[in-house]
Amino acid sequence: MVKAAIRALDTCYPPDARLRYAAAVLTDKGNIFSASNYGSDTASLLLHGEQMALAHAAMHGEPSIVAIAIVGKGNAQLSITNVAVDEKNSHAHPCGICRQLIWENAVRSGRDITVIMAKPNGSYITKSINDLMPDPWPERRRT
Ligand SMILES: [Zn+2]
Repeated sequence: MVKAAIRALDTCYPPDARLRYAAAVLTDKGNIFSASNYGSDTASLLLHGEQMALAHAAMHGEPSIVAIAIVGKGNAQLSITNVAVDEKNSHAHPCGICRQLIWENAVRSGRDITVIMAKPNGSYITKSINDLMPDPWPERRRT
């Protein structure tokens, strides 16, 4: 999964994107679907790699996932902070929006989801989505 996510970094759009994020999901049917971020000059219309990977699996009829691997590369200036992801920095973490989407996928399937946060060199750490979303909204049944 990590290798699939790393390979997907090369498909980020636009090709000259300064901050690249890619992801690969493992579905409950055992298949892997990867995707990368799809950018926009507006920045607010950016589709995250995690969102694209979830949609990629769903459009192939496999919306329930058991794990997701995420990798990032590059840097960008956001309104409140710099974001830099490379081999010297932290493992790629999902943003709040993507955590919400992954958590909702877990609620729908009734199982926890493993989140694999990787670096471009292939090293990674894992956490469960329940650990990354200790106080989810809306308050719902936990997996
Ligand atoms: Zn995100």
